[in-house]
Amino acid sequence: LTSLDLTSRGIAELRAAHEDVRRRYQAFAERKLKLNLTRGKPSSKQLDLCNELLSLPGGDYMAGAVDTRNYGELQGLPELRAQLAPIFGVSPDRVILGDNASLALMHDAVVYSMLKGTVDSDKPWSRESRIAFLCPVPGYDRHFSICAQFGIEMIPVPMLDTGPDMAVVEQLVASDPQIKGMWCVPKYSNPCGTVYSHETIERLAKMPAAARDFRLFWDNAYAVHHLTHEHIEITNIDEACARHGHPNRAFIFGSTSKVTFAGAGVGLFAGSKDNVAWYLKQMSMRTIGGDKVNQLRHVRLFNTNGGVAALMDRHREILAPKFEQVLKTFEQHLGDSGVARWTRPKGGYFISLEVLDGCAKRVVQLAKEAGVELTPAGATHPLGKDAQDRFIRIAPSFPELPEVTQAAEGVAVCVLLAATEKLLQSHAG
Ligand code: PMP
Repeated sequence: LTSLDLTSRGIAELRAAHEDVRRRYQAFAERKLKLNLTRGKPSSKQLDLCNELLSLPGGDYMAGAVDTRNYGELQGLPELRAQLAPIFGVSPDRVILGDNASLALMHDAVVYSMLKGTVDSDKPWSRESRIAFLCPVPGYDRHFSICAQFGIEMIPVPMLDTGPDMAVVEQLVASDPQIKGMWCVPKYSNPCGTVYSHETIERLAKMPAAARDFRLFWDNAYAVHHLTHEHIEITNIDEACARHGHPNRAFIFGSTSKVTFAGAGVGLFAGSKDNVAWYLKQMSMRTIGGDKVNQLRHVRLFNTNGGVAALMDRHREILAPKFEQVLKTFEQHLGDSGVARWTRPKGGYFISLEVLDGCAKRVVQLAKEAGVELTPAGATHPLGKDAQDRFIRIAPSFPELPEVTQAAEGVAVCVLLAATEKLLQSHAG
C-alpha cells in the first residue's frame, strides 16, 4: 500500500487504499490501547536518574558561608550559578536563579515589562495602544498562552530549517514600533527540533528595531538536550547582541526541568548587566529569596554525578531509542505515501508531523477514538489556529518504548486514513 504516492492515484485505487487503511484502523482501535503522546514530560526512568535529590542536601545545609535554610541570596546560590552559566553563555554574575521553572520567569518578565517597562522603555508596555510579539510557527503553546492572557497580539512568522524566516522578521521589526518582543527557542525548538543557524542569530542580534525596547525572549529550554552524539552549539546571543550595539535585546531563559526533576528543578533568567539588575529589582518585590535548599541539592548532585553533561548523556540513552522508533515507524508506514512529512530532530523533546492540508484535526480525532491521545491540532499556533490544519506535535518522551512504538503505528494509520478520506473527497468535488 505505502509503496506508492497516494496523491497520484486514480479514484479506484484510492478507494481500495482507503478500504485497506480503514480495516487497519479498525484492527488498531479494537486493541483498545490507552496511549498518550501529548506532553513533553520526562519518563519515570529519566526522573529516577536524579532520585538522589530526594535525600540531598543531607544534614549539611551550608553552601560556603550561606545557610540555605534562611532568607537571602536573592540572585541564587553562586555555586549553582557558576555551574549553569556556561550553558547559557553568560558569566555567573549575570544569572538569576528563580522558582522551579522557567515558564514562571518568562511570565514574570512579560508582566514586569507590561507594568513597569524594560530598562529601555519610555513607558510600561501596558500604556501602549497595542503590543505585538512575533511568534515563529510551529511554536510552543505556552508562549502563546502568555501573550493571549495579557492581550498581546501575536504575529506568526514561518519557521525555516535555519530558524525563523529572517526576511519577514527584519521587515516587521524594523517597521512596527509596537512589536516589542519575539519568542525564540533557538536550539532543538519545540516542536520542530530546529537549531537557529549562525546567520539567523547574527541577524536577530543586528537587525534594526523600530521599538528601542524590543526584546528577544530567548527560551533556551533544550540547551543541553542532545539526542545524538553531535552536541550542537549555537552562536552566543548575549555576545552577538552586545557586539551589534543592542546589549539589552535578549532576555535569556532556561531551567533544569528536563535535566533533574521537571516539577522540582531550578529556573533561570540571564542577560546583560542592566537586564539582570532590572529583573532583580522587580523580583525583590516578589520574594526575599528563592529555594536555596533545592539549589544546594542541585549543586551537590552535579558535583557527584560528573556534571550536567554526563547526566544528559544518560537522559539521551533513554530518550534517543524512543525518537528512533517513531522515525522508523513513520518511515515504514508513511515513507512513500506522499501525504506526510516530519522532522528528524537532533535534540529536544518533539517531532513535528505535517499532514495534508485540512487533515491534522481529523488525524488527532481518529487517534483519540482509537486510544492514542495527541496534542490538540493547532496547539502549535497562536490562539490554537493553524490556518492550514496541517501540524501535529509528537511527544515520545513519556511512554515506555513498546507503547511509543504502538502509538506511532496508530498515528501513521490515522494519517493514512485521514489522507485517503480527504483525497476521495477532492476527487468527488
Ligand atoms: N520552554 C519550552 C520551549 C518548553 O518546551 C518547555 C517545556 N515543555 C518549557 C519552556 C517549560 O520549561 P520549565 O519547566 O522550565 O518551565
